Amino acid sequence: MSVFPEHPSAGIFADLPTDPPTPFAAARPYFSASQLNTFANCPRQYFFRYLCDAVEDDGTYFTLYGTLVHRALERFHAEYRRPHEADPTVLEQRLVTLVDEVFRAAASEFTWAVQAELGRRKARRVARRYTCWLVERARREPFEVVAVESRQELDLEGYAFVGYIDRIDRSLVSGEVTIIDYKTGSIPHSAHAYRESVNAGLDFQLPFYYWARRMQGDRVASLALIQLKDPGQPVEPLEVRIAPEPPPRPDYRSKSGIVTEQELERSRHAMVEICERITRSGIARYEVGEDPPCRYCVYARACRERPAPAPLEFAR
Ligand code: SF4
Repeated sequence: MSVFPEHPSAGIFADLPTDPPTPFAAARPYFSASQLNTFANCPRQYFFRYLCDAVEDDGTYFTLYGTLVHRALERFHAEYRRPHEADPTVLEQRLVTLVDEVFRAAASEFTWAVQAELGRRKARRVARRYTCWLVERARREPFEVVAVESRQELDLEGYAFVGYIDRIDRSLVSGEVTIIDYKTGSIPHSAHAYRESVNAGLDFQLPFYYWARRMQGDRVASLALIQLKDPGQPVEPLEVRIAPEPPPRPDYRSKSGIVTEQELERSRHAMVEICERITRSGIARYEVGEDPPCRYCVYARACRERPAPAPLEFAR
């Protein structure tokens, strides 16, 4: 049985004649990679979110948790640009203190006081895991944090894009740049799976950041997603190096991998193609995606097109 109630209009209008759909074009001054990710995963969700100005809910506990973790890390790295020069214990204590500060300052934004406290405790544990990883990474190859929460603007064949990079590191050994994005939700389970999602045109965020920095002259060597979700697990980033050739044999499990410049180039073309589709001629019907993220979609109650959920399976 569906977890969503049946749409109130279901059945009432079923027999009425309908006008043929009229192409509806987007007219936005700016695009972002997350807009295009939404379109790639479910054009219908894109339609609701960006073309209808549909009312969204105020955000969930998870989005607020993510925002606050990002805020604490932004302040932390604005203070500590060269982690290898700092005392690890001081680093850990400072990040935990910043977590306390941002969660306490935002306590009234949570629906329940207990959510704010549970979120703060979880983020403190994640912060400890994070500083362990940070210290180890800085010890292996010292780096400098050159930017945090950095606004990027990029013109892709006449389409203006804007986005914010969580962190940009520059190696003090090679001078090469790593672009870092923090994730407090799910990420692909391996670098290979991530590369496949880029090649399938389902994930544009890191490719967009890559091109934004490349065009400003950075030597971008790698792109990393740092998952800060599970306080019970060590922090292990998913990191892809930019290489001229794909790996000879794919490793389906490793968190480290390769993405080629050609693949990033194709991703850039795919971004422009989507912009052309949704702005020039318009789209008469914004279809449901192949594997739409209905479970987390705030429009699920209003969406008459959502596919029936897969039946629940039980096992012993
Ligand atoms: S409920 Fe599902 S099909 Fe409908 S807009 Fe949301 S993700 Fe797309």
